[in-house]
Amino acid sequence: MARYLGPVCKLCRREGVKLYLKGEKCYAGKCPFERRSYPPGQHGKEKSFRRRKASNYTLQLREKQKARRFYGVLERQFRRYFREAERRTGLTGENLLILLETRLDNVVYRLGLADSRNQARQLVQHGHFTVNGRKTNIPSFAVRVGDVIAVRPESRRAQYFKIRKDLLGKRSVPSWLGLDEESLAGRILALPDRQEIDVPVQEQLIVEFYSR
Ligand code: SF4
Repeated sequence: MARYLGPVCKLCRREGVKLYLKGEKCYAGKCPFERRSYPPGQHGKEKSFRRRKASNYTLQLREKQKARRFYGVLERQFRRYFREAERRTGLTGENLLILLETRLDNVVYRLGLADSRNQARQLVQHGHFTVNGRKTNIPSFAVRVGDVIAVRPESRRAQYFKIRKDLLGKRSVPSWLGLDEESLAGRILALPDRQEIDVPVQEQLIVEFYSR
């Protein structure tokens, strides 16, 4: 699956919010967004001073782009998630966020086994994880309640995971996930509630965007 390979800090500046796409750098005080929190490009600074009222369409589009970039999902796949969220019972916006949260790469990131979702995606693609004991290398794999996500026994010996083990616990793990630090394994305890999903998006605007 193709994915965005350009400079990711520009995406945060474009969306006007920290999207945490660079792992440690996002937390270490070297974040470019904190120094230049205006849109990228030659006229970015001017634009941020212009007080033009954004149209409804612009607000909806930006919210959709923000969510897509936060989870590193391309447009076509994001649209598929939306259609699936519509089919499910309950609020479409919340269903959409739950579908995105339960992607395998996101769960690996949330468990603290990777610094960013990009890194988690790469680790999954390289075959370092199992789901319920079976090797799984598809970042978009949808995990379910009760699934166990673990680092493969062969991969546990790798230097990366030895270092990772010492870093576990630095970042808090959401309450819908359980983590066994010793065996580098996590379990899906429940589906996340909206309050447990700390994503800075107004999902209702995304619903409105696709319902035009
Ligand atoms: Fe965004 Fe992280 Fe880059 Fe800051 S360091 S601009 S949060 S990707």
